[in-house]
Amino acid sequence: MQRSELLNQLTATPVFDLAVIGGGATGLGVALDAATRGYKVALFEAHDFAKGTSSRATKLVHGGVRYLAQGNLSLVREALRERAVLLRNAPHIAQALAFVMPSYKWWETPLYGIGLMLYDLLAGRSAIGSTQFLNPQQVLDRLPQVQSGGLRGGVQYWDGQFDDARLALAIARTAQKYGSVVLNYCSVESLRHKDHRLTGLRCKDMESGRVFDVNAQCVINATGVWVDGVRAQDAAESGTKIDPLVKPSQGVHLVVDRSFLSEPYALLVPSTQDGRVLFAVPWLGRVILGTTDTPRDDVPLEPRASDQEVDFILQESARYLTKAPQRSDVLSVWVGLRPLVRPQRSRSGKSKQISREHSILISESGLVTVTGGKWTTYRVMAEEVLQTCLDAGLLAQNGKACLTSDCRLVGTPETDADAMATDQRATTHTLIDAQGPHSYGSEQSLLSKLPGADVWLCQGLSEAMVRFAVRFEYARTVEDVLARRSRLLFTDAQLALRLSDQVASILSSESIQEPQLAAFKAMAQHYLLSGSSQ
Ligand SMILES: Cc1cc2nc3c(=O)[nH]c(=O)nc-3n(C[C@H](O)[C@H](O)[C@H](O)COP(=O)(O)OP(=O)(O)OC[C@H]3O[C@@H](n4cnc5c(N)ncnc54)[C@H](O)[C@@H]3O)c2cc1C
Repeated sequence: MQRSELLNQLTATPVFDLAVIGGGATGLGVALDAATRGYKVALFEAHDFAKGTSSRATKLVHGGVRYLAQGNLSLVREALRERAVLLRNAPHIAQALAFVMPSYKWWETPLYGIGLMLYDLLAGRSAIGSTQFLNPQQVLDRLPQVQSGGLRGGVQYWDGQFDDARLALAIARTAQKYGSVVLNYCSVESLRHKDHRLTGLRCKDMESGRVFDVNAQCVINATGVWVDGVRAQDAAESGTKIDPLVKPSQGVHLVVDRSFLSEPYALLVPSTQDGRVLFAVPWLGRVILGTTDTPRDDVPLEPRASDQEVDFILQESARYLTKAPQRSDVLSVWVGLRPLVRPQRSRSGKSKQISREHSILISESGLVTVTGGKWTTYRVMAEEVLQTCLDAGLLAQNGKACLTSDCRLVGTPETDADAMATDQRATTHTLIDAQGPHSYGSEQSLLSKLPGADVWLCQGLSEAMVRFAVRFEYARTVEDVLARRSRLLFTDAQLALRLSDQVASILSSESIQEPQLAAFKAMAQHYLLSGSSQ
């Protein structure tokens, strides 16, 4: 469906059941849940889908090994269940991956091994592989690049990895398939109230400047680290003030080539020198190193890495890898802001100690705010939001229960025959390799029929993929294509910059009036290490 048709639906619908503000993991999950239950849904994203935190994760579908260490077993059990659901419902976007923890102290292997066996036990029927004790040679077979001096063995366990931005797109497309109006580049400018009750919102199509007044029974604020701005607007209507809900924490990732981690295994360092977790994860033909956890007070759309954060990741990686990564090895640096929920009482303290669990609040006017959590649990968070709306009478009961645990996302092979027709690799480890047609799951044949299917701009990005992004995946700008349909900006920022002119001309041939080439070139500088520092 064309963008103009989606916009027309805004005027053609007198009242939506649900209006969702924010097109990241949280908002998209809520839209999909409501749409599959038959509610009339509109979702508004001010920029592009997953432009915020939801394209900047470490790409792990995980139960949370560190929550295990904190003893938060119910959180781990729930996330492990959701891990299995996600791997089943989007096998072309989320896949199992083996992680190896090398041990250099005698007590590490038994301690971590027993902890990870508990992790397997908590997964129960959702387990995706068994924890295994490794001798030093077995560690080196899997991770030939780790330091061998003093290596005592290690532990291998299983979690998942995914492509966060492409998962967001698949959820948006699936929600639309179930009748939702999902709009990127459509910012919510204000909330509309009547007699102090929230009745809808005013949004602006950022391309045309056209403004729409939308009526909705229930409005969900799923704007991630930006939720407090929307809450403040809501409270101002009745002359009150809010207590901030979110304490943002910044996480930096560096990307290097596969010579630093050549085999299809991720490295996990459970405790760095300052007590954090460090990952080295093979992803789309590169290796992601990260991350950090730095509290900040502001919430920029494009946060920048500080020199200290970059140095921390390089130094910690060098302690475990035989070839120490240098600044000159970094192909891309990206930064995300975690929407950590502030503890109820103490608002000081380090962000490492703040819970990753989500929070759902209903304001006096009826605005439902949801934030926190993690990508892995987006589906179950959405289910809880819908239940909260039903319990509060903000959404009329229609007798339909949550359906999303069995809802295959767009691109998932639907039958065994489809699965056979799809490249077999699409259901195994394609996320480790560079992106390619296999990333499109059951839509590979659709992709192969578009003009330019054999014209490669670089490994993993064809002209047809750019056209597919415009025709089926809501891409409007060069950035949308190079950052979130293809992930080139995240895997090789220089290469993304070099290809941006070509991408812009393909977009123009697809009738995109303003592909925003200059804006992309300026923004992409932030992903080059020379462009970092706050
Ligand atoms: C460094 C880091 C690593 C992480 N790693 C993992 C991981 O490996 N696995 C995992 O499960 N989770 C991970 N997470 C957590 C996960 O990424 C987040 O929990 C999740 O992406 C939050 O999604 P969200 O939709 O709440 O926020 P966002 O993705 O930020 O979405 C909010 C959206 O609201 C939009 N918006 C704001 N104001 C308006 C408005 N007025 N009108 C319309 N739209 C508006 C924004 O543009 C934005 O797109 C990580 C997070 C970080 C920061």
